Amino acid sequence: MKSRIIYGPILSRRLGRSLGIDIIKKREFRKNCNFDCVYCQLGHVDWKISTPSDVTDPVTTEEVIDGITNYHKKVDDLDYITFSGTCEPTLNLELGNMIEQIRQISDIPICVITNSSLVNRKDVRENLSKADLVVATLVSGNEKTFQAINRPAGGIELQDIIEGLRELQKMKGPKVAIEVMLLDSTNDYPVNSSDEEVGKLIEVLRYIDPDEIEILTTSRPPAEDFIIPVPETRLKEIAQKFDEELGRERVRLVLKGLKRKRSNIKHENLVDEVYDLILRRPCTFEQVVQSLDIGKEELAPILEGLVGEQKIIEILSENGTYYRPT
Ligand code: SF4
Repeated sequence: MKSRIIYGPILSRRLGRSLGIDIIKKREFRKNCNFDCVYCQLGHVDWKISTPSDVTDPVTTEEVIDGITNYHKKVDDLDYITFSGTCEPTLNLELGNMIEQIRQISDIPICVITNSSLVNRKDVRENLSKADLVVATLVSGNEKTFQAINRPAGGIELQDIIEGLRELQKMKGPKVAIEVMLLDSTNDYPVNSSDEEVGKLIEVLRYIDPDEIEILTTSRPPAEDFIIPVPETRLKEIAQKFDEELGRERVRLVLKGLKRKRSNIKHENLVDEVYDLILRRPCTFEQVVQSLDIGKEELAPILEGLVGEQKIIEILSENGTYYRPT
């Protein structure tokens, strides 16, 4: 089964119904990235990429425009077109051109979800500046904790990321939203929900001065089983601290998923569409039903078939049973 560049739409807490674009081809690897985060919902990376020049055979602007043009015919109520997927989109230096070309054929807002790893590069910031919204990850204000949680490729350092995010914000192009994934652990692994860590995060967020700050915790099964979600009471305490220090109007605590009304998606190959979605974003049965707007009776045999072919597996978590690529 060949995975496609365009997938979804995905129903997300932040973006509503968004069409995903994955601009790094997989080749023989199931997942490649320049981070190997302990909380990654897709499991461990098979190959850690360092820079854009490590990306072999990157997706072209033409391929993206072709994909969007075809998908546009099938979905009529999208909130966003989003560059994301199983790898870091800024590793493809065509990103800015892709955004410009999409604007020629669509007026749907464009978002880039980035792990922030390359934002210290001027060319990457220029690409990001063309989007309407950049959602950038930042997990810590401490180098050691950042290295422990994100496990980046060699040479990627937190201070460069912080400076890069500040520069991006100063460009006054896209809205910049920083996503802070808070974590707890079952052992003494360095995580970011202690008072000391929260204080340091507030310090660097004040320096970056983003438009929005979103606080959340892991809801899907993470790559490492010693990583657990931060309890809701503690999340609320941290959110209150963020509110007081950074301004209530730009801080948002995300606790629950988003429910949306039914859509009008015209499906062509439902098996491929379900697989493409799960490849980029592990989902529960209900989440696939909502994202792709299909009936439960249609989905059940598809998931059964994909599990039988060992394309996906079931993972039990406290939030339910998730389907994840093998
Ligand atoms: S969470 Fe995102 S940045 Fe981290 S390893 Fe997974 S895909 Fe890469």
